[in-house]
Amino acid sequence: MTNEDLLNRTIITAALVGATTLKEQNPNVPYTPAEYAEESLKCYEAGASIVHIHARTDDGLVTQDPKRYEAIIKAIKTSCPEIIINITGGTGTTDKERLAPIKLIQPELCSIDTQTMNWVNINPITKKIMYEGEYFNTFHTMIRMARVTKRLGIRPEIEVFSELGLYNILYIQKQYQVFSEPMHFQYVFGVVGGAPFNIQNLAHYRAISPSNATWCVCGIAKDQFKANTCGVIEGGHIRVGLEDNIRMPNGDLAKGSFEQVQWATKLVEMVGRKVATTDETKKILILNTKI
Ligand SMILES: [Zn+2]
Repeated sequence: MTNEDLLNRTIITAALVGATTLKEQNPNVPYTPAEYAEESLKCYEAGASIVHIHARTDDGLVTQDPKRYEAIIKAIKTSCPEIIINITGGTGTTDKERLAPIKLIQPELCSIDTQTMNWVNINPITKKIMYEGEYFNTFHTMIRMARVTKRLGIRPEIEVFSELGLYNILYIQKQYQVFSEPMHFQYVFGVVGGAPFNIQNLAHYRAISPSNATWCVCGIAKDQFKANTCGVIEGGHIRVGLEDNIRMPNGDLAKGSFEQVQWATKLVEMVGRKVATTDETKKILILNTKI
């Protein structure tokens, strides 16, 4: 396997659940450890090498209880030992709460969010605002999370919701060098309160990111398919899953995140690239496996 081969690989991440998607919207959203395990295995078999995890209670409530993360990840690793774990760093009201599961589990990857912003969910048919909140990510939080992950050897996936977040991270890195380089970005398009997907926005992010950075794209709702398609063409990595979108391109509810992974695998092959295996993903993202 040469570096040239690795450059032709696309990593597929499956974001299984997120913080807001409910079974009422798509009954295939996992809540119990057994459901996470089953869905992770299906995603792995369909081509995903990473699962991105937010923990839920059996009733579907968001929880930052480290023990719940431990139970979920134990179940996933029992059914699918090969899959790489990425835990959210975005849930929790204090830095301590956000970092508690990350410190306990010490996964290969965790997300670090990059700006304070509005976060709004709007029903596209009724136009009703279903959820609205202020999402706080201060410089202190970002720097603290970067330092902890660096000390523990966890790879941060730096989540960019608009160019403002990207500029925040570039400034922090210039001043404090808290991220190991090359940095790894997740360009998230289509959050209401952040930037929508279009080719100009993707090109702009690429132009202002460090040239040696690795990067992935994901999109919310219909932005998922457009962002992923352009991301693969441009040589990036891609994320699908019910966290971002509950449907398939034809509008039907997805049978699970795995069905979107199947779509992503076909997309990668159609573009003439290959889906990265877990071993290739570890090399591309320079991951340190402890669990
Ligand atoms: Zn997430």
